[in-house]
Amino acid sequence: MVAEVSFPISSYQTFSYKVPDHLASKIAVGMRVKVPLGNRKVNGIVVGINKSSSFKGKIRKIDDLIDDQRVLNDNLWSLIKWLAEYYNSPLGIAAKAVLPSNLSTKYKPKVEVLVKVLPAKEIKSAIGRAQKTVYDYLKNLETYVPIKALSHLCSSPINICKKLAEKEMVSLIEKPIVPDLSEFAFKPKNKKIILTQAQNVALEKMTSSMDKNKFNPFLLHGVTGSGKTEIYIEAARHAIELDKTVIMLLPEISLTPQIAGRFRSAFGDDVALWHSKLSQGGRAWTWKQICEGKFKVVIGARSAIFAPLKNVGLIVVDEEQESSYKQESPNPRYHARDVALMRGKLDNASVILASATPSMESYYNYLNGKYKYIHLKERFGGAKYPKVHVVDMIKESEETAVYGDIFSRLLLEKIEDRLSKKEQIILFHNRRGFAPILRCDDCGEVSMCPHCNIALTYHRSGKYLQCHFCNHTQNMIPSKCTSCQSYNINLSGTGTQKVEDELSNKFPNAIIKRLDADSVRSGINLTKTLQDFSDKKIDILLGTQMIAKGLDFANATLVGIINGDTGLFLPDFRSGEKVFQLIYQAAGRAGRGTIPGEVIIQTYSPDNPVIKCATELNVEKYYNICLEERKALMYPPFSWMVKIEIRGKNIKEVEKSINKIKNKMVNSPKGISILGPALCYREKLRDYYRMQLIIKSNKELDVNGAKLHKYYKSILSKDIEVQIPLKQRLVIDINPVSLL
Ligand code: ADP
Ligand code: ZN
Ligand code: ZN
Repeated sequence: MVAEVSFPISSYQTFSYKVPDHLASKIAVGMRVKVPLGNRKVNGIVVGINKSSSFKGKIRKIDDLIDDQRVLNDNLWSLIKWLAEYYNSPLGIAAKAVLPSNLSTKYKPKVEVLVKVLPAKEIKSAIGRAQKTVYDYLKNLETYVPIKALSHLCSSPINICKKLAEKEMVSLIEKPIVPDLSEFAFKPKNKKIILTQAQNVALEKMTSSMDKNKFNPFLLHGVTGSGKTEIYIEAARHAIELDKTVIMLLPEISLTPQIAGRFRSAFGDDVALWHSKLSQGGRAWTWKQICEGKFKVVIGARSAIFAPLKNVGLIVVDEEQESSYKQESPNPRYHARDVALMRGKLDNASVILASATPSMESYYNYLNGKYKYIHLKERFGGAKYPKVHVVDMIKESEETAVYGDIFSRLLLEKIEDRLSKKEQIILFHNRRGFAPILRCDDCGEVSMCPHCNIALTYHRSGKYLQCHFCNHTQNMIPSKCTSCQSYNINLSGTGTQKVEDELSNKFPNAIIKRLDADSVRSGINLTKTLQDFSDKKIDILLGTQMIAKGLDFANATLVGIINGDTGLFLPDFRSGEKVFQLIYQAAGRAGRGTIPGEVIIQTYSPDNPVIKCATELNVEKYYNICLEERKALMYPPFSWMVKIEIRGKNIKEVEKSINKIKNKMVNSPKGISILGPALCYREKLRDYYRMQLIIKSNKELDVNGAKLHKYYKSILSKDIEVQIPLKQRLVIDINPVSLL
């Protein structure tokens, strides 16, 4: 018997090893093994088992199995192979992206001790008073309860329970505390949910698809507050009843506490969390527990799509338009939405792509009949759409004769009003730090990151300048201009810290909290702030895109968007789409309960079609405009796209390399067109200059993208790769989400 073994190294190859007799009955695809490689012993994964091997050379023997269970199942292995092929990534690297880095962990989660009364035991007369109190309390409960929950009865419930256990009056069990779950989940709430007619219709489509064991992709387009999350929960319940499992993807860690809390209320300990803040040990432990079938639902960020669940019946991609689903680096540069569809196909699952503002890709796929479309047009419980006010900030500054004020008069007035009514306010500003830039008012010189061609951002909390790309930090704030030596250098622009400062000046009695990447160092902080806001302990929640979507606070009735234009003029074909989605989503946080909400959008470009449609909350109108534009320029979703990028420290050399590639692109097939080469918008990052070539392939002539794949692979055949100097890097990005 011969096993094919793969290693997490940059190679497409797998290696053959003989299986010793004593392992033959145990070994299976997906198990980890220890094998000799060169003169080292390394860990690999069995990816195939055959009677014999076609390999002619000497075949070495497997030393041992590392664990006695599989860490990958067949479908997950197929998914890795697809990942490697589709995203042009070595197989070992693709496997590495999927598996936790160190599965042989000694990590043991903390345990919680639970107690339950044993039946039909007479109370011994010698039992002390505290013991009797605890015993009587437990007798009325039929289930196991955490010992912690008895602390109101006596000072040391654990000792009391141990004594009762010795007398065989109660039984004690230990239960592992799922890593980080309590940190990342709201307290479970038991809310009575009876789905509405519209929700039921949507649910019915999903459940009947699950009943048939068929792969089906759905686009669930439901306005903000239409009750999508309640549908996911009921669909998940159905999957579990069918003995299937569920993956729930979230785009942003800030959404985890609420959604995880809601799922926990419904499914208790069947829910696991999978996200970036999990420790390595916690990750490995969770992975193995999932392999053993301990969880039915996995909730997490993009890599949760690889959770080793068996028999997945339902995959939900919440806020499916979010670009955070795309892994930008390292390889494989995958999009979790596309992986979800592929996994759904392999597992015969229903895949729900859900949003109030679908991506252009998904909207297009629905228009073309590729996805089943479910539209929820109304908010739950007849909650009204918020009323939107647009403030033209240019007019505002003319009228007030002050230029660059953060808050318009209308916004201040509305904040004042809501504060006095004890209602809550969400302010959204998509730029962190204090002031984005330090500029010389005499010559215009801006303080830049020495490693990236990006302006440094001033942070007031520690008084430092920081690059938001590479985190380069400069503690000395220059007192004069490095270019013209003038002392006339000033902070300009506005970040969330500055908004926070002004806000506390204007409303000294309000309780204000800021949520952005700087304020959220730990999960506890995040969960606490969101929980406090939910419990009405905070008046104004201020934050970046972190708070723009998905969150549900019934008492938040005013949303202010400080600068609706942020990001609007970035030279990327998706910048309009992103700004539209962000404004629409942020507006959707207002008035989700019974009190009608209001939204104030401040803008310097009220006539821009993106801003106009967003302020009208008109999805269809904007999407039609946007699709027209994309079509005229043959951009996605009308084409498939590949980005070829060269990075290097010497810009002349980079240019030379990219031109070599470009020169191979003669006589490209019909339907394929090439843009560039050009410097990327962020032309220098982490000391590397960047140039890119974009290849587009018209979908009408290339239905599944196969033509484009064949084409770029032929261009990048071995000989050209060899010509790219070792010092440079070649980055290939399939269906990139950003061209910046
Ligand atoms: P979405 O995910 O579409 O933004 P949510 O699922 O968060 O919407 O629903 C908005 C609010 O309405 C939530 O507080 C939710 O619990 C509530 N809700 C939705 N559907 C129902 C229902 N059928 N019964 C009771 N409450 C519901
Ligand atoms: Zn100057
Ligand atoms: Zn930098």
